[in-house]
Amino acid sequence: TSSPNLTFNDGNAIPQLGYGVWQVEDDVAEKVVRQAFDAGYRHIDTAKIYGNEAGVGRAIASSGLKPEEIFITTKLWNADQGYESTLAAFEESMNRLGLETLDLYLIHWMQPKQDKFVDTWKALIELQKRGRVKSIGVSNFSKEGLQRLIDETGVVPAIHQIELHPFFNQAELREFATARGILTQAWSPLGQGGELLENATIAQIAAKYGATPAQVVIAWHLAIGNVVIPKSVTESRIQENFAALGVTLDEADIEAINGLDRGAEGRIGPDPAVSD
Ligand code: NAD
Repeated sequence: TSSPNLTFNDGNAIPQLGYGVWQVEDDVAEKVVRQAFDAGYRHIDTAKIYGNEAGVGRAIASSGLKPEEIFITTKLWNADQGYESTLAAFEESMNRLGLETLDLYLIHWMQPKQDKFVDTWKALIELQKRGRVKSIGVSNFSKEGLQRLIDETGVVPAIHQIELHPFFNQAELREFATARGILTQAWSPLGQGGELLENATIAQIAAKYGATPAQVVIAWHLAIGNVVIPKSVTESRIQENFAALGVTLDEADIEAINGLDRGAEGRIGPDPAVSD
């Protein structure tokens, strides 16, 4: 199997199921990204701040996969926001990754107090014009922040990567993005592997499909239209998570999982609207 693609507002496509490498040491990244490629993933999500762009780059180089066969995302770190500093940070990331062209570049956090995200977005627009990056998007923005990017530059982000899992399903922000042609990408899609994977509702649904809890949660993300990037450094789980592509939930089960939302109580990470 391979992941289905979703199409961006710029015409490019992204594999809906990818593999994320937050908290993976650089010297481990090469091994686990190769395991992910072997399992069938073709989409890798990294960031400058993860400190493993070089390891991801080594995995790409040793995999024998061609650039057009894979989809790589990296992110601009907060301290590098601003027009010129973004252009410089991008080149450093590309050197570590060993790539000529990037598939997707994201502003990692909005950083409302810094208030440099519009200038930063203009640098991403310039990188896309120059052909250095195919698609551009953002992560951890508020509705107001997204709207400012659109109003002040006329360029709509391709994707918005946000904390999103059944305990914090972000219905409002997803709807806001969809209405503007922005795809939504879920980070910490498994709720970082805690209580969510022991939830009774998830367990019941998993038993019904002969699937694991992680697979059910990933299948829910796929069913509601998210791009999803679960992380694991255990090869059997890397494979298990990819096999969630074979699980198709029925409408009642999707609704039951929608019902697990805890609103703001369900959030694990910082609130992007106030976090600098
Ligand atoms: P996740 O929700 O993907 O959970 C990962 C954890 O879940 C693993 O460490 C493991 O403990 C557990 N797990 C994974 N597969 C399992 C399985 N099959 N069975 C049982 N347990 C399993 O958490 P995450 O790493 O925070 O998020 C995924 C990716 O999202 C990251 O690696 C990163 O690429 C991205 N991310 C982005 C941001 C951002 O600010 N943009 C923030 C956090 C994460």
